[in-house]
Amino acid sequence: MINEKRGIMMRLVLLGGPGSGKGTQADVLKKKYNVIKLSTGDLLRQAIRDGSELGKQAKNYMDKGELVPDLVMVGILEEKTAEFEAKKQGYILDGFPRTVPQAEALLKMLDKQGVELTMTLLIDVPEEELVRRLSSRWTCRDCSYTTFKDSNGNPATCTQCGGELYQRDDDKKETIMNRLEVYSKNTRPLISFFKDKDLLEDVDGFGQLEEISARIFDLFDMKGIK
Ligand SMILES: [Zn+2]
Repeated sequence: MINEKRGIMMRLVLLGGPGSGKGTQADVLKKKYNVIKLSTGDLLRQAIRDGSELGKQAKNYMDKGELVPDLVMVGILEEKTAEFEAKKQGYILDGFPRTVPQAEALLKMLDKQGVELTMTLLIDVPEEELVRRLSSRWTCRDCSYTTFKDSNGNPATCTQCGGELYQRDDDKKETIMNRLEVYSKNTRPLISFFKDKDLLEDVDGFGQLEEISARIFDLFDMKGIK
């Protein structure tokens, strides 16, 4: 039933805090379900490279150091997804929408295309766990490889080149707390928005990468997504 209502083609919004493993899960889903991962950065770069009208507009804002307005961004997304609809190619949105107005614009766009969002999937990780994960990330001074130190402080040096590891300012606890606060402030209304529309599903984001993937596969099975 769900299949018939929502269609088999996957149109997925992925939500999850910094450190939730959202990007990695998107890559896993991309392979398993043969869908395309669309990040706003990639979309913008491609539109600019293609020299489309909207790409030119986006470039103007970016050159001035301004944010690309939602209307332009959704326009670019609309052009791209129209190609996918024509090919029946499923896709995952990573990093969009970030605000309720963007979410509204997205649903309006899908409505215009005569299709429905399959679901918004939240990878739910408790804040303490995100802090623990993010603050254990260290970067190599020589090759910029990032690695995670365990509670014993291992590894002591870069596992790729043996170089010295340091903690980037971005990965320090205070910065992390700020990032999480911004995330939570922006995302909480988004979660309510999709929940109210019966479009939100969440999976427990605690544990190993493979365990979290398995939970997502189970959920998709249940929903008849193949
Ligand atoms: Zn290294």
